[in-house]
Amino acid sequence: MKFELEALVIEHSCRDSALAKRIVERIDPRIPVGYVEDGRAFAQPIAGQDPFGAGKRRMILTRKHGSFVTGCPAASAKFACCGYLIMNLASNCPMDCSYCFLQEYLADNPGFKIFANYCDAFPELDKLSRTAGGRNFRIGTGELADSLAFDNFTGISAELVDFFAQRDNLLLELKTKTDEIENLLRIDSRGRTLVSWTLSPEAVFRSSERLTASPARRIAAARRLLAAGYRVGFHLDPIVAYPAAGRDYPALLDELFDNVPADRIAFISLGGLRMTPALRRIVRERFSADTMMVGEEVLAPDGRFRTFAAMRVALYSKLHERTRRAGVPQVYLCMEPASVHERVFGVRPPPPGAMGEKLAQEPA
Ligand code: SF4
Repeated sequence: MKFELEALVIEHSCRDSALAKRIVERIDPRIPVGYVEDGRAFAQPIAGQDPFGAGKRRMILTRKHGSFVTGCPAASAKFACCGYLIMNLASNCPMDCSYCFLQEYLADNPGFKIFANYCDAFPELDKLSRTAGGRNFRIGTGELADSLAFDNFTGISAELVDFFAQRDNLLLELKTKTDEIENLLRIDSRGRTLVSWTLSPEAVFRSSERLTASPARRIAAARRLLAAGYRVGFHLDPIVAYPAAGRDYPALLDELFDNVPADRIAFISLGGLRMTPALRRIVRERFSADTMMVGEEVLAPDGRFRTFAAMRVALYSKLHERTRRAGVPQVYLCMEPASVHERVFGVRPPPPGAMGEKLAQEPA
């Protein structure tokens, strides 16, 4: 991907880390590199036009204080939930999707931070593995950042894949909108890493997903990784209910199944476009020309603007039927209330623990 980096700031405490050396060696030599005691001030928004967009272009190598592995922040008793755990190794993302929730979540802290002490996550993971008591966990790095967008600079993915390859009850999920998979192709994952792609129709990609790989390139990358022994999954999330959505999303699934055998896909998740009022305001300011972001959503009981429930259910049902006929083993909804789950699948959602266990297990 084209990485629009304008500056690299490295905290003194990280200066001698292997990660700092790798990044300095690999970035464009014209990018200025500064060394500071405390990178926090550089992570804050700098007044001017589009402080969030500017934050993405300022990489800060810092240390994370506190745990790396936590529950998914989207988990809530109000929604169907996939029981996902997250591991935050970075914060913010070099790509720029119109609907990205980070625009609100990181509004006060938009600098693109990478945590040089990421190896401190390994003892946490080991403890989780040891105390799992027969359970399996799926742990992803793609919540506050894309998992692979900057891997060409950091090379972190190889260490992660290698670590998870040796733990039978932990599954790593790398979630991305890129096709930056070269580092992964060099390593044997022993089936303990699942790479997942957010997929959108071409119209949404063109309108709303700046600097990402095209859907066709994401699918081609999935095909290569599947052949290399990785598990693969897909997120159709957010589904945007634009006028041609009823035609374009099923066509996207057809394109996917033409390239990746449906029964080899670990799961497909479905989720509708959802925005808090604050996020919607930011999106409409930053991307006023994006016609995908001007739908007539309604304020749902959870305080987010969403497409009318009846339209969401109709779209989900159509896509579920397509995936079922093709033979995808597992389809789930993200951040939808139990009532929507019941209308799409005919049953109440399973508890998060049960769903997490199912998604983390080896395929039968
Ligand atoms: S790729 Fe993901 S994290 Fe990056 S801007 Fe798009 S939605 Fe946000």
